[in-house]
Amino acid sequence: MAYHINTQCVQAGYEPKNGESRVIPIVQSTTFKYDSAATLGRLFDLEEDGFFYTRLSNPTLSAVAQKIAALEGGVGAMLTASGQAASMLSITNICHAGDHVVCASAIYGGTFNLFNKSLRELGIEFTFVTPDADEEAINAAFRDNTKAVFVESVSNPSLDVADVELYAKLAHAHGVPLIVDNTFPTPVLFRPFEWGADIVVHSTSKYMDGHAVALGGVIVDSGNFDWTNGKYPAFTEPDESYHGVVYAEKFGKAAYITKCVTHMMRDYGPQQSPQNAFLLNLGLETLFLRMERHCANAMTVAQFLEQNDKIEWVNYPSLPSSKYFERCQKYMPNGCCGVISFGVKGGREKAMQFMDALDMIKLVIHVADARTCALHPASTTHRQLTDQQLEDCGVKPNLIRMSVGIEYVDDILADLQQALDKI
Ligand SMILES: *Cc1c(COP(=O)(O)O)cnc(C)c1O
Repeated sequence: MAYHINTQCVQAGYEPKNGESRVIPIVQSTTFKYDSAATLGRLFDLEEDGFFYTRLSNPTLSAVAQKIAALEGGVGAMLTASGQAASMLSITNICHAGDHVVCASAIYGGTFNLFNKSLRELGIEFTFVTPDADEEAINAAFRDNTKAVFVESVSNPSLDVADVELYAKLAHAHGVPLIVDNTFPTPVLFRPFEWGADIVVHSTSKYMDGHAVALGGVIVDSGNFDWTNGKYPAFTEPDESYHGVVYAEKFGKAAYITKCVTHMMRDYGPQQSPQNAFLLNLGLETLFLRMERHCANAMTVAQFLEQNDKIEWVNYPSLPSSKYFERCQKYMPNGCCGVISFGVKGGREKAMQFMDALDMIKLVIHVADARTCALHPASTTHRQLTDQQLEDCGVKPNLIRMSVGIEYVDDILADLQQALDKI
């Protein structure tokens, strides 16, 4: 029986046997013992399931990965040490030097650098399409050597909402998969596979953990993409490093995620620690409760700021005034995330004064945990840029990004009000 996603947050992925611990145990062991060399040999040849070295998998990691696969509605998942590692391996699992990826330009800065610098230096090319690109503009970005399309469902920090159904349609018309970074909405608010996406990645360091205690990432496979269409020989030709296994034949719908573990994780090794996976699971157990409160609080704060005459503009996709309102209602009717951005009247100076006047709301680079925090990019992450350079990269000098937490909302409003009164 398929349980509701809220129940899956609490229960999926782990089924204790008679007398076993009720809670997912932290298996703090790099290695596992077997009685015969033959069994171990079969594990190495992927002829049998089982754990033998934590770089590939481990009971704690496997249980938490299975929970996230259930939440997204996929056939399998692999945890990684960070969101960055998940994004990287999601691409390198199917792209090599000489291949090309179509990517939305509204993506996390770390992902942009990973793609535009590091993976480019390894020979993988990227074409970036702007958030306002229409069907024709997106189509024009494809090449003969395109192997994947990558977008963020709700982008960090610009809060652009991707038209996932359209991207999936165009990717499939070109015979390539759509990879969606679904970090901001989480599967509780948006499930990309239901709109045609093939692979989902997350930085679990954000809402999934939810308490800012454990860095992590995950890759989830929908099982729906056909890797035998001629573009992906790595799935249809024998892998000599595994005694000639042919992934698409042997693992069927789970070919992508199996190759991710046995090839990508085996060779590159950015595995999540069992301790972090345990903490991640604690976060996942309350994810549906927290996302509801994050969204409700963010909406209240966004509306409060929109009505304040010291505020120039407010950006939150669930607000009726947002240019993404209709798209957001289509894909994420229950809310998109707890992150909002807004501009303080009076430019960079007033924005800095406002930040200094905040009390309960702390100045933090991180987003998406239980505590409300704020960041003024022009005086911190982007401080080396002039006002003109800031405008050019879409970060206004007066922009404040706020990650609305799950506190009692009147306390958040009161802190904002007293800070606004001081400027
Ligand atoms: C933070 C973030 C990442 C990177 O994740 P880390 O866990 O910090 O490596 C990737 N994508 C999005 C949307 C993020 O917000």
